[in-house]
Amino acid sequence: MNKGKGSVIDKDERVRIRKQLFQDIQRAVVKVGTGVLTKSHGLNLEIITGLAGQISWLMDRGCEVILISSGAIGSGVKKVGLKEKPREIPEKQAAAAVGQPSLMLAYEQAFERYDRQVAQILLTRDDLCNRKRYLNARNTLNVLLNWGILPIVNENDTVVVDELKFGDNDNLSAMITHLMDAQILVNLTDIDGLYDKDPQKHPEARLVPLVSKIDRALERAARDAPGALGTGGMQSKVQTAKKVITSGIPMIIAGGLRPDILKDLFMGKDLGTLFLPRGQRMACRKCWIAFTLAEKGVIRVDRGAAKAICENGKSLLPIGIVGVEGDFREGAMVSCADPAGVVFAKGLVNYRASDIRKVMGLRTSEIEKRLGYKYYDEVIHRDNLVMTLDTMEEAACP
Ligand code: GLU
Repeated sequence: MNKGKGSVIDKDERVRIRKQLFQDIQRAVVKVGTGVLTKSHGLNLEIITGLAGQISWLMDRGCEVILISSGAIGSGVKKVGLKEKPREIPEKQAAAAVGQPSLMLAYEQAFERYDRQVAQILLTRDDLCNRKRYLNARNTLNVLLNWGILPIVNENDTVVVDELKFGDNDNLSAMITHLMDAQILVNLTDIDGLYDKDPQKHPEARLVPLVSKIDRALERAARDAPGALGTGGMQSKVQTAKKVITSGIPMIIAGGLRPDILKDLFMGKDLGTLFLPRGQRMACRKCWIAFTLAEKGVIRVDRGAAKAICENGKSLLPIGIVGVEGDFREGAMVSCADPAGVVFAKGLVNYRASDIRKVMGLRTSEIEKRLGYKYYDEVIHRDNLVMTLDTMEEAACP
């Protein structure tokens, strides 16, 4: 297998990999960015009509699709007559409020031609961090899919400010991919894939067709080239790919302005950048812990604890803890870092930060004496612990 840039595997082999991958896809998340959906005078209706045709084609072939669509702010900006995307959050939110109905109307009309109905789902990160609301969202989406209706998801921009946001729809698309246990995430953008350098600055830049490992060089290459109206640049797409492939799901970044791009991808054509999945499919709940919940703190552990967790599948006990950062409550999601500072796992804590500080380094038999109560022996039970990719790759564990 190639490492990083995809130069080892030749085109025939890549096409073989893609054909094999796409032939079994029965549920896909497709994310389309603002740069694809809007043009100088508003929504790009031609593109939206083309997407409707291609998504209907996929649905006719028995593939369930969930569409993540940006474009509300971009469309609102044009409708209100602003010269550029506003910087202030309330203005962005107001622009989204103006643009979202036009976006949905455009989809509704485009899908009508194919006798398909669409549904609007607006979510916030808060919704998905709450386990009950997370499951409610999944139930609703599943019913829509059973009814043969296309769910179109966007962030509920009106009600969120920065720290509560998904960040951008790239991040949202990863969470929906996990929520819905989809078999692939297709990210359609206004660039035709990931390049080894910024193609706008370096004419010799080359498209990376296949990635099996996201290394530092690749992350560096992705740092530039953000879209004019969209929120996430290539960097956020690569961060998204990291989350998706770590959970065992492939992702593709491809050019959404190319006619028939979805059809071509699903026919196995070697277009865009394919990120191969790493390891086994992670259970949905573990994806929720590792990739949806916001990190509230860090627990530093000693070598013995890191080894017990990484190599022997153990839970995290107080005795192995050497430090606690942050102020969090029971049930919060925290990262676990080894003595070198490398994060190797994420999990839900059974005790609040102040109590973990009191019991760290102690045996489980001493917890009750120290705290005056004891809920559990484990600070993080194994069932609530998820190993992260960096563990395997950077040999965080002894
Ligand atoms: N929710 C934003 C919109 O619809 C898009 C955010 C993004 O592009 O990542 O305009």
